Amino acid sequence: MAHESQQTATPITVAYGDGIGPEIMQATLDIIKAAGANLAIEVIEIGEKVYLSGNSAGIAPEAWESLRRTKVFLKAPITTPQGGGFKSLNVTTRKMLGLYSNVRPCVSYHPFVATKHPVMDVVIIRENEEDLYAGIEHQQTPEVVQCLKLITRPGTEKIIRYAFEYARQYGRKKVTCFTKDNIMKQTDGLFHKVFDEIGEEYPDLEKEHWIVDIGAAKLADTPENFDLIVMPNLYGDILSDVAAQITGSVGLAGSANIGAEVAMFEAIHGSAPRRAGQNLANPSGLLLGAVQMLVHIGQSDVAEKVHNAWLKTLEDGVHTYDIFQEGVSKEKVGTREFAQAVIARVGQTPAQLKTVSYAQAKETIKVTLKPAVPVKMETIGVDVFLYCDDRDANKLGKRVEAIKNDALKLTMITNRGVKVYPDGISETFCTDHWRCRFKADKAVSYNEIIKLLSQVTEAGLDIIKTENLCRFDGVDMFSAGQGA
Ligand code: NAD
Repeated sequence: MAHESQQTATPITVAYGDGIGPEIMQATLDIIKAAGANLAIEVIEIGEKVYLSGNSAGIAPEAWESLRRTKVFLKAPITTPQGGGFKSLNVTTRKMLGLYSNVRPCVSYHPFVATKHPVMDVVIIRENEEDLYAGIEHQQTPEVVQCLKLITRPGTEKIIRYAFEYARQYGRKKVTCFTKDNIMKQTDGLFHKVFDEIGEEYPDLEKEHWIVDIGAAKLADTPENFDLIVMPNLYGDILSDVAAQITGSVGLAGSANIGAEVAMFEAIHGSAPRRAGQNLANPSGLLLGAVQMLVHIGQSDVAEKVHNAWLKTLEDGVHTYDIFQEGVSKEKVGTREFAQAVIARVGQTPAQLKTVSYAQAKETIKVTLKPAVPVKMETIGVDVFLYCDDRDANKLGKRVEAIKNDALKLTMITNRGVKVYPDGISETFCTDHWRCRFKADKAVSYNEIIKLLSQVTEAGLDIIKTENLCRFDGVDMFSAGQGA
């Protein structure tokens, strides 16, 4: 670990990464230092070399120590080696350090960078820890695999509050939420509900919700109608790349991953190994990540200088190969020359593009959660999932119904969520994975469920998992069967 310390400088951890990483990191650091960034840099090794040395997480224990000490991470892209066993370092870092908010400003730079959307300035705020990225997957039967989608109230409250606070701090007027709560009524339903609840505390901001499919279509078609969009993890992952790409290039967007204590800043693109070592790569994405970092550590004046000098460089037509356009660009430059061009413009502002100001930006957005409200929780039944290779729903139904339990009665069997017993129809396709719903007239103990499970096993049926059916404050919180 190398140290370049200064007395009053802000300590940050830097990783040069793989592929084009070292070149764009050098360019970024040269620019921000030239603009007056006051940093004490600790360099850590992450990525391909660490993975290939036998560390499946791609990061060594001493690197964690640095991150936990400085709490600020400027990270160049890394290469995740192909093949099984290597965990994504990004997902691990975000979750281990609680970096719950992923902030990606997506701006078009018309007419200097070609884009179909000349008027676009959207910030995507993506929930960064939950949803399908909980990474809990199982194969349950020879035919069926499952991934758990986890949405939590505190996790949702944190990201929604962050989004509204960000909107206020950065002068955004409208906050849009995308979910698929017409289908996922419990998980996406909670995200939407918390958005509506917390939105009421921000009467100064316009609020809207779109179902993600039509919302995504509108974002791709008329991005000028959006200002800030907050989304659960998966939709945010996909749509922030779409939003960055339609500004003109994914290579132009930076990203901040913010936690309560630690924050990580990066470009949104990867390590582009084919472009490595040729002084070709565009450092803009990482540079804009570093601008977000400077605002985060309270060096907003430097952030502003860097951002405006960079805009002026784009305007002056000094472009790397990826955004170079005959007739618009003036000079095709490499990574180093681009950095020098930005450095030469420190102190200047763009003439045509909007000058950036971070005067309003405070150091960090702090989110405080509302105290949890106690709820009455009762178990009123259980879904017992079975593996059964015989696809005859009626035959299985009769076998399950023959199980006599005093408290819990079979109410239906579904296959992939569709009711197939009683009164299923022959057209419904069935796999080897069946859900038997047992309900009670009143709350049951887990001992009663265990008794039922013993009976199911004694009947020769293969249980693969169970889910309790719960009622919260008198409301049943489990989905009905389709067609039930
Ligand atoms: P990529 O983003 O690295 O590259 C895709 C293409 O985009 C490149 O071939 C190049 O033509 C262009 N490009 C990307 N960044 C550029 C830049 N700064 N300047 C000019 N052109 C640029 O995506 P990929 O090829 O799918 O992935 C390569 C590696 O990067 C993989 O190992 C992947 O796992 C990793 N990756 C890392 C991160 C990260 O560390 N945050 C993110 C995405 C991908």
